[in-house]
Amino acid sequence: APTETGTPAQAGPPPGAERPALRFGERSLTYAELAAAAGAVADRVRAARRVAVWAAPAPETAVGVVGALLAGVPAVPLNPKSGAKELGHILSDSAPDLVLTAPGAKLPPALRGTARVDVDVRAAGAVPDDRAGDGDPALIVYTSGTTGPPKGAVLPRRAVAATLDALADAWRWTGDDVLVHGLPLFHVHGLVLGVLGPLRRGGSVRHLGKFTTEGVTRELNAGATMLFGVPTMYHRIAEALPADPELAKALRRARLLVSGSAALPVHDHERIAAATGRRVIERYGMTETLMNTSVRVDGKARPGTVGVPLPGVGLRLVAEDGAPITACDGETVGEIQVRGPNLFTGYLNRPDATAAAFTADGWFRTGDVAVRDPDGCVRIVGRKATDLIKSGGYRIGAGEIENALLEHPGVREAAVTGEPDPDLGERIVAWIVPADPQAPPGLDELAGHVARRLAPHKRPRVVRHLDALPRNDMGKVVKRALADG
Ligand code: ATP
Ligand code: MG
Repeated sequence: APTETGTPAQAGPPPGAERPALRFGERSLTYAELAAAAGAVADRVRAARRVAVWAAPAPETAVGVVGALLAGVPAVPLNPKSGAKELGHILSDSAPDLVLTAPGAKLPPALRGTARVDVDVRAAGAVPDDRAGDGDPALIVYTSGTTGPPKGAVLPRRAVAATLDALADAWRWTGDDVLVHGLPLFHVHGLVLGVLGPLRRGGSVRHLGKFTTEGVTRELNAGATMLFGVPTMYHRIAEALPADPELAKALRRARLLVSGSAALPVHDHERIAAATGRRVIERYGMTETLMNTSVRVDGKARPGTVGVPLPGVGLRLVAEDGAPITACDGETVGEIQVRGPNLFTGYLNRPDATAAAFTADGWFRTGDVAVRDPDGCVRIVGRKATDLIKSGGYRIGAGEIENALLEHPGVREAAVTGEPDPDLGERIVAWIVPADPQAPPGLDELAGHVARRLAPHKRPRVVRHLDALPRNDMGKVVKRALADG
């Protein structure tokens, strides 16, 4: 198995040079073309200390990242949709020597001071000797900024290789797999899993540019075998299925449907399962740790669980007092802590945050809280900081209340937060996007619905209606924006 390096273009059984590697719309590259173009990039960036990649959904992004990997120069993917403030923060923090981009791409003013190198996908360069080591940084990926300003996670080649090979084991992922990809390329989901993953296996990627259910149907009908998505995409699929038998048929054909980056609502999982007979597999990861757990293809995909620790990943749940939780009772909540070859080496320029993120005995504190079910599967309750509500002496997870609310026919989207309450400590607030804005379900209705399904103390005490939930570009609900509003 290819475990020595994180250099996907060189790893694994050498794929046939004429095999397809990447396709973005009408533009595609074979493995030979990718190697030649990436070799030319490697030659161009060799002397740089660090390079940025303007990570639009385009072949130049993939070629740029692979070229930097070949040269052993860490790449910083930039979100083309970042606002000036976020982009400015990432550029001053990472200080790239140059930015790799597609010819003709219009770069914002924040990048004017950075030397620009256009990636030519038809260039022919030689693949250089691989001199980088396992512990050398391959990528610096910024976290999603859901809980604060994005932090640059320095990811060694070892972490990329370890996570992709662990997923290959869990998913029986091979060079025969063809991935339908509709995600952005500046986070680990879209870049590490979605681009470097297929390349490491010798398979191929078909990027939709922009996610549409029609694109998914088309690519699965054309022989794609797997789909990676975030929950908002599976939500759109669940909503589209009743009126789209072609989509249902195409999904039935897929070998693997995988969701990650945020919790997949149980309601969407179940609607997709009912319409297609297929269960979406959930995996759980972070920028800092790459992938930690997944439902295995040979395991059972129950809605609401993220499966079991991947091979090589150490995972423990830890109570607030620091004691490890050994019970698999589906009830005792603890913080997820992990260690293994999949971990980052630290946050760029943030020794304080890096130190705070690890326990004295070397485990990474994910900040996520979970329970373990009797079958060993991890069930994420949410983020310690925002999703664990302390109300009336109970510790209540926002996620299960959100799942219950989403089962109400009058609710399209739901997010649950806690806010200070003189009696309860915190009271449960439900932020609702109603299915019908003319007839939004009220507090009594929703409180009764939740109390019947879960328990009376889990019922919302306040309901607020919104036109849409605040989400970042991965579709994650930004709860601090709710609290601020
Ligand atoms: P920041 O760290 O900047 O606040 P972020 O945590 O959203 O942003 P990422 O590293 O992209 O940045 O996301 C990792 C987080 O996403 C995890 O800590 C977890 O809370 C959430 N997550 C990922 N996959 C899942 C999943 N399958 N189910 C539930 N939550 C998930
Ligand atoms: Mg985080």
